[in-house]
Amino acid sequence: METQLEALKQTFCEELDSIQRPDEIEPMRVKYLGRKGALTSILRQMGALSAEERPRIGALSNELKSFMEDALSQKIDELKKASSGPCIDVTLPGRAPRRGGIHIINSVIRELEDIFLSLGFTIASGPEVEDDYHNFQALNIPEHHPARDMQDTFYFRQGILLRTHTSPVQIRVMEKSGLPVRIIAPGKVYRCDSDVSHTPMFHQIEGLWVEEGITFAHLKGVLYEFIHRLFGKDVPLRFRPSFFPFTEPSAEVDIGCIICKGKGCRVCKNSGWLEILGSGMVDPEVYKYVNIDAEAVTGFAFGLGIERIAMLKYGIDDIRQFFDNDLRFLGQFA
Ligand SMILES: [Zn+2]
Repeated sequence: METQLEALKQTFCEELDSIQRPDEIEPMRVKYLGRKGALTSILRQMGALSAEERPRIGALSNELKSFMEDALSQKIDELKKASSGPCIDVTLPGRAPRRGGIHIINSVIRELEDIFLSLGFTIASGPEVEDDYHNFQALNIPEHHPARDMQDTFYFRQGILLRTHTSPVQIRVMEKSGLPVRIIAPGKVYRCDSDVSHTPMFHQIEGLWVEEGITFAHLKGVLYEFIHRLFGKDVPLRFRPSFFPFTEPSAEVDIGCIICKGKGCRVCKNSGWLEILGSGMVDPEVYKYVNIDAEAVTGFAFGLGIERIAMLKYGIDDIRQFFDNDLRFLGQFA
């Protein structure tokens, strides 16, 4: 009988080890400890034992009984703990996930887009990896033209480059869609340059309106409206004659310094004015490249740097901060 008890303990332990779920415990208790269970059926043979053996086997079977009861209740605790995971204190305050935000440059782009969309412009885009033809030649900047030196270009193999301005989008749009054209083209541009006011990649927004009867007055009207919505109604504008190969006449536009209100400060170099964008009437030479009859239509174009606008609007003095990804900086605008 002693051997039977030991064998029983052995099978019990093996079976207990294989148990995975708490609901398997009760059937096992019945199987081993129930009234028709394995232990009871062994104890039924007690009557056949001698009087000396009986107390010893009785003690052994009691021991086995309490061993099995303990093991079962221990196992059930273990399984319950494992299935419910670690203890959770629901009264603890939650850990809020960190909230992202729109990058300052993107939010300025959206603001500019909204202004031009409301003026009837649509948004166009073009490739950042451009060919020489669209970036230079079709914009009236032939090979060896001195204007090419104004922009330090990143070149790939012959004739392929990273666009140095958003102006090639003008050419691509005029090549494809019929007239009239009234688009803005925001996007990334690249120049081999890096200091507090230059980064190798920055953003521009290009504007183009070509239609019968467009004059310099339209250009001024659109730019006045744009600047006044962006910087406020009281900001003065100034048009200065300038040169761009793809516009004639060309004008650079200054606004009254929004930092010192025209009195003179470090930002405006004591002039009271800030350069803000370049513009002009589309040079008739450009129309030849896109098969538009220069006698039939006129148009104007303008371009400005997004970072420059963002720096003035938010008083940022180092352009590189936009791209350092320092959350302390970016978080201020989220
Ligand atoms: Zn100033």
